[in-house]
Amino acid sequence: MIKIGISGSAGRMGRTLIAAVVQNPQTEITAAIERQGSRWIGTDAGDLAGIGSLGVCLVDDPRAAVTRCDVLIDFSLPVATMANVAICREAGKPIVIGTTGLNDADRRELTRAAQVLPVVLAPNFSAGVNLAFKLIELAAQVLGDEFDIEVIEAHHRHKVDAPSGTALRMGEILASALGRDLGSCAVHSREGHTGERASKSIGFATVRGGDIVGEHTVLYAGLGERLEITHRASSRMTFASGAIRAAVWLVQQEAGLYDMQDVLGLRG
Ligand code: NAP
Repeated sequence: MIKIGISGSAGRMGRTLIAAVVQNPQTEITAAIERQGSRWIGTDAGDLAGIGSLGVCLVDDPRAAVTRCDVLIDFSLPVATMANVAICREAGKPIVIGTTGLNDADRRELTRAAQVLPVVLAPNFSAGVNLAFKLIELAAQVLGDEFDIEVIEAHHRHKVDAPSGTALRMGEILASALGRDLGSCAVHSREGHTGERASKSIGFATVRGGDIVGEHTVLYAGLGERLEITHRASSRMTFASGAIRAAVWLVQQEAGLYDMQDVLGLRG
């Protein structure tokens, strides 16, 4: 059995991950971490996930908790995730990261850590989205600069970063397929007298509301036709199952910075 630790255990994804680890015959939960001061410290992880007691209580000491795991899965906040990267590096424990909103300095630090530590970082762990990454790349290559591209995403009202990590990853894939630099061609907002759409720009639109789990559309608008590639997640279990698949895969890997394309064998 692979011993899994979860950071961000009381969160929406954390609770789903607890249930998913228990459902998976290859994995068991050995540590559940939350932030210091959380009212859930001391609560049984299984009770929190609504699946009955597991005998593993939420703790606020990641350093001690990590020693009890083979691999840590972290869906929390960037500052907590980066602290856990340092702890996993010291302890030599692989880490699967689902947290989005990491900044450039975090990414540089992660790249450094991955020289000695196996890391999977993915903005989206669903198999469907990772297949969509391939499809949107192919569509951009075939349709080229004649089509205007917009990335539209929708999430629940509690999401704190925008655009979503998945939408930004889609933007990077599209820009790379078209030989553009996303930093200079991305348009993140439009208001007032914007002028005509700049050719070769990639637009982003964000919707926030209710309990939407996650939806992403890439729209290719040409003259006389348009193509839309859409993924809709209807349950967080898809992300949780993907993260566990990544964790099971990662314990067998050498140090390196991997993503879900590597885990699913879609690379290349
Ligand atoms: P959430 O419900 O806000 O959960 C985050 C949890 O992390 C909260 O319980 C929070 O506690 C906890 N936390 C804060 N500081 C911590 C620390 N130092 N150590 C341990 N836990 C700490 O958010 P969510 O919807 O589960 O999403 C979490 C992250 O995963 C977000 O970045 C989201 O975008 C990302 N996500 C990724 C995927 C993917 O497939 N890659 C899918 C869904 C979500 P408090 O509330 O008490 O502060």
